[in-house]
Amino acid sequence: MAKIVVVGAGFCGLSAALALRQAGADVTVLEARERVGGRVEAYANGLGEIIDTGGQFICDDMPEVMKRARHNGATLVESDFSGNYVAQPETSLQEAERARAGSTALRERMNSLSPDDPSLSGMTVADWLTLQDDPDEVKAAFRTMIEGLWCVSLELMPAWYLIDNDRRITNEVGELQYSLAGTMQSLADQLAEELGASVRLAEPATRIEHADGGVRVQTDVACYEADAVLVAVPPMTAQRIDYQPPLPPRLAQALGAWQSGAVIKVLARYARPFWREKGLSGMVTWREPSGLFAFDSSRDSNHAQLAFFIGGPLAVAWSRYGEQAIRDAAKAKLVIALGPEAGEPLDMTIRNWTDDRWSGGAYSDVIIDMAARDAESVIRAGAPPLFFASSELSPSFPGYIEGAIVAGRRATTGILSMLGDID
Ligand SMILES: Cc1cc2nc3c(=O)[nH]c(=O)nc-3n(C[C@H](O)[C@H](O)[C@H](O)COP(=O)(O)OP(=O)(O)OC[C@H]3O[C@@H](n4cnc5c(N)ncnc54)[C@H](O)[C@@H]3O)c2cc1C
Repeated sequence: MAKIVVVGAGFCGLSAALALRQAGADVTVLEARERVGGRVEAYANGLGEIIDTGGQFICDDMPEVMKRARHNGATLVESDFSGNYVAQPETSLQEAERARAGSTALRERMNSLSPDDPSLSGMTVADWLTLQDDPDEVKAAFRTMIEGLWCVSLELMPAWYLIDNDRRITNEVGELQYSLAGTMQSLADQLAEELGASVRLAEPATRIEHADGGVRVQTDVACYEADAVLVAVPPMTAQRIDYQPPLPPRLAQALGAWQSGAVIKVLARYARPFWREKGLSGMVTWREPSGLFAFDSSRDSNHAQLAFFIGGPLAVAWSRYGEQAIRDAAKAKLVIALGPEAGEPLDMTIRNWTDDRWSGGAYSDVIIDMAARDAESVIRAGAPPLFFASSELSPSFPGYIEGAIVAGRRATTGILSMLGDID
């Protein structure tokens, strides 16, 4: 029976491990943290309620995660976005709608270009934006949308990367359509339960020795010998493991082409969904400052909650001032947008992912090396018996839970074909 070590128990590593196990392999999963789930996590808020502090939302256009949720009997909670949204700084709904439609058109115009279009050569997203004739408010709405979703500065992101990545995010229904009543983390826990004792928590892989004959994966407490290893962690995090011999230069360079984004997720729990009494959906988009977004993430009307995200350079800037300052700033923004009731939450949970040691700082790492057009394919090819996968490398929904599952399954195909028929 082939032996395989999977490093990382996020949705990518767990999905890969289950597929490998199903194919007959003897799998060990090494996870650095004391829990599985990676960028999906749940914690108790100040009221003792278990809430999603990482990845949470899925939609009908994400087939693998939806299939998994249904297979595991998860109860879906449909998001309620009825009512008007609020645009900040305050502007008429008509003007806000014009800016929103303009920024969507701008995004479509960008995506209509091929990532290999020579006119994009050497151009960042910010460079491309400067060349567009759109009004300033449309450009500002585009910037806040992109910095809020990709969580890095437009000045750093190659235009070809954004196009290549965004084209793989193909949902037509809203991506915030559902969350899981029992939290997304509970789905990760169920996958880990299926794997049983082969998941080793609090055992970060520190060194991987690899040769044609197999691999030795070192942790602080043990050494695992295997026929192959799948490093199922984001590219920037994968780079920090000590590989012996060192990785082939092209692969090392491809892993070095990325930067982690920065995001802070704030969950403000209220006694009642006061925004609905004003005919509002709870959704707030900020054109200024760039990278802010809030929406109703209530589990039901007895659990009124707003999710507030700070993404990109703004998250880096706010992080410098500490948690209390983030709390005060978030509250102040919500009060201006939704009224004084927003200043009286029953609980406010802050999860700052910026500089997260094990998963990078945001929804995904992003390529910032202009010349690294082949970085993803080089990493996906790996250096057998050493393989790599993470949501970032997925052909569909990179940076999402769906992408993590797809990337994990896809990586198993490469491993199995290297090992041949392991039955
Ligand atoms: C705040 C936030 C909100 C998000 N919201 C959504 C959402 O609503 N919907 C959605 O679809 N996606 C969302 N995402 C993105 C989504 O959560 C991720 O894209 C996805 O979960 C990534 O899965 P992964 O397995 O590729 O990586 P990870 O989840 O990062 O898993 C990697 C695992 O490897 C472990 N690890 C790292 N280094 C080592 C080592 N040396 N040895 C052993 N283990 C190691 C880590 O601890 C981690 O468990 C969100 C992410 C964040 C941070």
